[in-house]
Amino acid sequence: MEILTLVQKIYLGFIVGFIGLAIGSFLNVVALRLLAGKDFVKGRSKCPKCENLIAWYDNIPVLSYILLRGKCRKCGEKISLQYPIVELFTGAIFIATVSMFGFTLKTLFFLVLICNLIVITITDLKEKYIFDINSIPLIPIGLAYNFFDIGNNSVGTLKVLGITFNDVFISAIIGAVLGVAFFEILSRIGLLLAGEYAFGAGDSILGAALGAWFGWKLMIIILIISFLSQLVVGIPIIVYNMYKAKDHESLWAMVTLFFALGLTFLGRYFTYTGRPFIALSIIFLSLALAGGSIFVILKRTRERQSHTFLPFGPSLVIAGLLVMFFSEYFLSYFPY
Ligand SMILES: [Zn+2]
Repeated sequence: MEILTLVQKIYLGFIVGFIGLAIGSFLNVVALRLLAGKDFVKGRSKCPKCENLIAWYDNIPVLSYILLRGKCRKCGEKISLQYPIVELFTGAIFIATVSMFGFTLKTLFFLVLICNLIVITITDLKEKYIFDINSIPLIPIGLAYNFFDIGNNSVGTLKVLGITFNDVFISAIIGAVLGVAFFEILSRIGLLLAGEYAFGAGDSILGAALGAWFGWKLMIIILIISFLSQLVVGIPIIVYNMYKAKDHESLWAMVTLFFALGLTFLGRYFTYTGRPFIALSIIFLSLALAGGSIFVILKRTRERQSHTFLPFGPSLVIAGLLVMFFSEYFLSYFPY
C-alpha cells in the first residue's frame, strides 16, 4: 500500500511538473510579448530573427532546446537560455507548491501568484520594468485570498468600525499599506539624497501586492530578505562600477563602510566582556565612520550622474517565494 502511494505520488509529481514546464514556456512568451508591446494571447511563436513560425515539435519545453542545441532550426540564431531556465524553474516550483500544500484552493491561488512573479522577474531583469498587468491584479487577489482565509491561517476575528473581519484580512491590509509606504518613502529619500528615485513605481505596487498576500509580519521579513539579497548581488556590481569609473573617493568610502561594520562586531564583543565605555565609544566611532562614508558615496553618486540602480523586483520575488514556503518558520520570530 505504501509503495503504491509512493508510485502515485511520483506519477502525480511528473504530471504537475509537465504542466509547470508547459506553463513556464507560456510565461516566457507572455514576458517577451509584453516587453515587445504585442498582444500575447493571439499569434504563434516566431523566431525573432528569421521570423519563421516555430513548429510545435521545436516548441517543446526544455527538450526542444536540448535537441536543437539552443539554435533556431531555420537560421541558426541562438535561442536564449532564458527559455529552458524559466521552464525548468516553473516546473520545479509547481511540483514544490503542490507537494507542500496539496491539491487545494490555496495551491491554485499560490500558482497564480507564482506565475505573475515569474513574469515580473523576467521583465524586471531584462528591461527594469514591472508591468501593471502582472502586479496590480495581485493586490485584490491577495486581499480576497485573506478575506476568505483560503490559506486557513486565521486564528480569530477582529472588529473594525463595527464590522467583523478575519485577523488575516486586517493583517493583509496593513501589509499592503506597509509594502507601498516603505518603497514610496525610501524612493523619495533617494531622490533627496542621491538625486534620483531609489525605486520604481513597480516596486511599490509589488510591495503592496506581497503585503496583501502575506500580511504585515511576513511583509517585514520580505523587506529584510529582499534587502539582504539586493546587497549580496548589488555591492559587487556597485564596487565594480566605482572601479570602472576610477572613482577612488567612493571606493575608499566603501572600504571605510566595511571597516565600520567590522567595528560594530568588536563593540559587541566588549559589551559581552563587561566594558560598556569601550563598547560605546567603538560603536559611536563606527556609526560616525559609516555615516560619513555613506554621505561620500551618495555625494559622489550624484556628481557622477551614474544610473547604476539594479532592478529590485527579483529580490522581492525571491523573498516572497521564501516566505510562501517557510511562513511558519519566519512567523516563529514573532512573539504573538
Ligand atoms: Zn530563425
